Formats: sequence, structure tokens, C-alpha cells
Amino acid sequence: MAKISSVKAFEILDSRGMPTLECEVTLTDGAKGVASVPSGASTGVHEAKELRDGDIKRYGGRGVISAVKNVNSVINEILVGKDALNQSNIDNIMISYDGSINKSKLGANAILSVSFAVCDAAAKSLGIPLYRYLGGIIPRKMPTPMMNVLNGGAHAENNIDIQEFMIVPRGDAVFSEAVRMCTEVYSALRGLLSKRGLSVGLGDEGGFAPNLKNDEEALEILCHATELAGYRVGVDFSYAIDVAASEWKSDGGYFLPKRGVKRTREELVRYIESLVTKYPIISVEDGMGEDDTSGWKMLTDRLKVKDVILVGDDLFVTNKERLKKGICDGIANAILLKPNQIGTVSETVEAASVARRAGYKTIMSHRSGETECTVISDFAVALSADYVKFGAPARGERTAKYNRLIRIENEMYS
Ligand code: PGA
Ligand code: ZN
Repeated sequence: MAKISSVKAFEILDSRGMPTLECEVTLTDGAKGVASVPSGASTGVHEAKELRDGDIKRYGGRGVISAVKNVNSVINEILVGKDALNQSNIDNIMISYDGSINKSKLGANAILSVSFAVCDAAAKSLGIPLYRYLGGIIPRKMPTPMMNVLNGGAHAENNIDIQEFMIVPRGDAVFSEAVRMCTEVYSALRGLLSKRGLSVGLGDEGGFAPNLKNDEEALEILCHATELAGYRVGVDFSYAIDVAASEWKSDGGYFLPKRGVKRTREELVRYIESLVTKYPIISVEDGMGEDDTSGWKMLTDRLKVKDVILVGDDLFVTNKERLKKGICDGIANAILLKPNQIGTVSETVEAASVARRAGYKTIMSHRSGETECTVISDFAVALSADYVKFGAPARGERTAKYNRLIRIENEMYS
């Protein structure tokens, strides 16, 4: 049995220049696991709580020294001597000690860093790759990339309210080929934007963030870039959007802050439907706000007949209870899996299992603030996630995750 001999964390930086935790777990057999955790800019209100110091003299209050201390003191104490291969026990010990409903006592960032690092250590102790440790011997399938190439909303300083415009390769290309196709469209997009005199500066997730006339112009440009790269719109590529509508909530409806426009939920549903009708959009994430069940019901009823993937991100927050309720209410048909929304590996697996049993699609996702950690790449393969949402093929923290998937594919199929 590989027992935990020490758990240790410290502060490192994420891709938005914010501190986050890196955790090292050492086992009695000498195996060492290392992992770090991401952080979101457009977080849902139902997410597990990230512990931040609030000490304005350090990182403007965003330091995570208190979470680091929790790892190095109490979490270390309660986990030393425990079997590292019993992940659910490890996670449950931390959950019970924390005792809160949203992990606010120890901090979801502290707990997840340990949860991740324990699995990494366990896989190393067994001498097998992490995706195989997490996924077992059953053959796994590689996911399809949903690449965010145009950024707006809370992720960019431009005038676009929809947070993400993504390209999704169709057909049966293997993962590395799918990444190549996406990257070719991304490069064509850069050329197109500069030719039009538009900014090619990048948003948080590596997508371009130009000022545009409206959302339709973003989709027009994507179609054009697809063709320029030599692909057929709607045949070789479809598109996906993350509306991130929870960011737009206002009394009794939605307020788009950049455009300064108000929409009722009926108007927002009709607007999304019009985009889906006009462009080959196969997936819409957070089309409605996180607590707008009737809006979600309306959106689901209208779009599911068109076979659109309706993804709950802020809606479900990787929480199996919120997901079960959504399934009962007949809303959405897919879940975004962000381990730091819920705080442990085991609970992420549980949410994925509930989704699969209900026929909901699964999408493993990064956050806007990321590190070079690639645990979520292995996790995506282990869970046979249908899609991965890891941002643009640019910026090291994003390419690290795509590259890890390419290496896994190489290992699995060579
Ligand atoms: P976040 O955004 O990481 O800033 O929360 C990602 C998303 O909404 O999907
Ligand atoms: Zn989202």
C-alpha cells in the first residue's frame, strides 16, 4: 500500500498573473505527485469557494497563503498515513473535515490541489500514466476539441458580450489532426483580422479579442477564416458559443454590459435561436443565467429539436445535485466539467457519471486563469469526455493541455 507521507503546497502564478496553489504529495514508496489549480474570471455563484487572503498588501488581496497554510497544516495532518490509492476516501476525509457546503473552510482551491496531486502520486507509484490510473483498463476515446478562438465578455477588453466563439471540427479526424485543423483556422483568422485592420491581441484564453460590429460579425469572420484555411463551413467545421449569460443577469431579465442592451428571457432565447438558425452552431453554453430555470426550459425546448448541445456551466457547476435537478427539470443536455467548481476529483467523476447515465454530453474544461498543469487532459481521456474546452492553440498554459492530449493519443494508439 502506498501511503501518504507528506502534503505540501506553495503559491505559484496563474496565466492572469494571479497567485494559485501548487501541491506536492509524497508517498512512503518515494512517489511524488505534483499539481496546481486554476481560477475563473466569470465564476458561477454556486461554485465551491476559493480561499483568498483578502490582505490588500499582497496581490491586491488575491493571495492564497491561507489556503497554502491549510494544506501544510491540517490537510497534511489528516492525510498522512492514508492510502493514496483510495481517492474517494482521501477526498471524503477533506470534505468531512471542511464540513461546509461549499468548501469555504479549507478552501476548494486547497482541497482540489491536494486531490489532484494525490492521484498524480498514486499513478506514479503504480508506474502507469495518470489517464490510465483514473480511467482503468477500459479503452478510452479521445475527445473532440472545442477551441475558443474569439474572446469577449469577461475575458476580453473588447465590445463583444458573448464570452466565447469556438470552432469544432466535424468528422472522424483523430485528435492530433483535429488540433491541426483548428490551428489552421486559428492562423487564417489571425491573417483575416490583421488584413481588416482589427486587433490580433489575445483574450484570457488565447482567442483574439477584436472590437466588432456585433456577434454576427464574429460568426461571419469565423466562417470566412474556415474557408480561407481550406475547410467547408458546416461540413468540416461547426461552431460553439459560450454566452455566459449569468454575467448578464439583471432584474427580471438580462443586461448586456458592453452593448448596454436589455433583453427579456424570451428575447434572449429568440436571439440565440436566430444565431443557431443562421450559422452552423452545434453547441450553446450558458445561454441562460444560472438560476433562470424557466429560461433554460424555454431554451432547451426550442433548441433541442434542432439537435443543439446545450451546455450547463454556471448552471450545474460540476455539482451532481444541481445536475440531477436539471435533469429532472428537463433543462440542458450537456455538462461542462470544471474540477475546481466542485473541489475534488471524486465529485467530478460523480458528476460525469450522473451526466452519462442521463445521456448528457460531457465537456472537460479549463478556466480563464490557468497553470501549465495538465491533469485535466488525462482526466478528459479517463472519463471519455465527448469534448475538451481548453482555449485557443496559443499561450503555453493552453497548448500544454492540447500537447498532453496529443502525447496520450500517441501512447494509446502507437
Ligand atoms: P471562467 O470562464 O474560467 O472565467 O469562469 C470559462 C467559462 O465560462 O467557460
Ligand atoms: Zn462557460
